[in-house]
Amino acid sequence: MTRLIFEKTSDDLNGINITDEHVDFDFLDKKYLSEQTSSILPNISELEVMRHYKELSDKNFCIEKGFYPLGSCTMKYNPKVNELLSSLEGFIELHPLQDDFDCQGALKLMYNLQEALKKISGMDAVSLMPAAGAHGELTGMMIVKKYFETIGEERTNVIIPDSAHGTNPASAAMCGFKIIEVKSNEKGLVDIEELISVVDEKTAAIMLTNPNTLGLFEENILEISEIVHKAGGLLYYDGANMNAVMGHTNPRLMGFDIVHMNLHKTFSTPHGGGGPGAGPVMVVEKLKEYLPVPSIGYVDGNYRRNYNLRHSIGKVKAFYGNFSVLVKAYAYILLMGKELKDVSSNAVLNANYMMNKLKKYYNLPYDRKCMHEFVLSGEHQKEMGVNTLAIAKRLMDYNFHPPTIYFPLIVHEAIMIEPTESETKERLDDFIAAMINISEEIKQNPQEVLKSPQSTPIKKADEVLAARKPDLRYKGK
Ligand SMILES: *Cc1c(COP(=O)(O)O)cnc(C)c1O
Repeated sequence: MTRLIFEKTSDDLNGINITDEHVDFDFLDKKYLSEQTSSILPNISELEVMRHYKELSDKNFCIEKGFYPLGSCTMKYNPKVNELLSSLEGFIELHPLQDDFDCQGALKLMYNLQEALKKISGMDAVSLMPAAGAHGELTGMMIVKKYFETIGEERTNVIIPDSAHGTNPASAAMCGFKIIEVKSNEKGLVDIEELISVVDEKTAAIMLTNPNTLGLFEENILEISEIVHKAGGLLYYDGANMNAVMGHTNPRLMGFDIVHMNLHKTFSTPHGGGGPGAGPVMVVEKLKEYLPVPSIGYVDGNYRRNYNLRHSIGKVKAFYGNFSVLVKAYAYILLMGKELKDVSSNAVLNANYMMNKLKKYYNLPYDRKCMHEFVLSGEHQKEMGVNTLAIAKRLMDYNFHPPTIYFPLIVHEAIMIEPTESETKERLDDFIAAMINISEEIKQNPQEVLKSPQSTPIKKADEVLAARKPDLRYKGK
């Protein structure tokens, strides 16, 4: 078991030596210099400090370590050159309050990224400010709200299919909208009859995740957009996973008015630890004046921050968004060029390959061609005594990160797998083999499977106890 760095401390060792003789601590309040304070710092050599943190980091699972097929999360390889570029001195030494004229390069990068995202989404204007996908949704819903207030229409409802990402209803509710859920039909798509029955003069917008969380493309997307537009509502596109359609089609062609994309999924930024990310929002011409300020403009040969948007919802984040993520996304787009289209082709090919190999062993509730991800059901396995949670834990013993489970909610015992475009066929085959092995293990010895995981730093945990009575104290040995 790993010891805390404080337990490795030794009076004979010292990694660093700061004393009053070398450093002038006069600026510090004396209470911070008490004997007590200094005694709680560990004494440990520099080499041992490095080993300690390496040991801790080795306990993490990451994309560099293995396959990470977390559905809806697009855990793909992020080119290391992006990190190098985003840490260039000229970028990291910039201060956000610097004058426009002193940071033309950074503004140009943001401007060019805006232009690229306009092209990819088909939209007319962009805000790079939102810091995450859900933050982009919130920004989009704030725009919807302000738009109807401005044109003097009272619209209170936002329609959201039951196959949408869970953040969608949360974002709309935070803006005070009433959520109207529409069910999926037997094909896993929006039920058009039901949609027609809920669309009316109170409809502010529909939020669609397309492909939806079943990994299915909404076949009737043009009909859906016509129905909502006819009633005077707006269409919001959750484009977190643009790697499903990028370069092949875009939300504009499907009739949408507002889109967000997750740069930290589709356009490569490591995001396993929860950030930083970027969820830019793109809109059609008539909503341009509602975007957050500043946007980045190009006037008279200079790149400028533009605060001059007539109906702007204001700021949604300090300064201009997570700049380092914008650098990485721009680098990725330039690196890929026309091959951005192949990203989608490969993501879809990989998902369909795996789905077809696995559907003989696990139930596939919606047996249709999928997009970038697919959803299996562990129902049969559950009947044999092993639920989806246990299958996910078993995968950890095969050195795979488990897929997303129990989501989307409309599939019982859901196992949502997204291979992404960046994996090799060999890696996909390894995962398929592990899943098939587990399905055999369940038939032969379900009790054994229930003991997993065995190979992780924390073995099988008591889920109920962990949730009801979490004991987060470290008591040492
Ligand atoms: C990940 C995801 C989101 C939320 O993005 P965050 O950056 O985690 O806030 C929204 N919608 C879909 C479809 C997603 O996959």
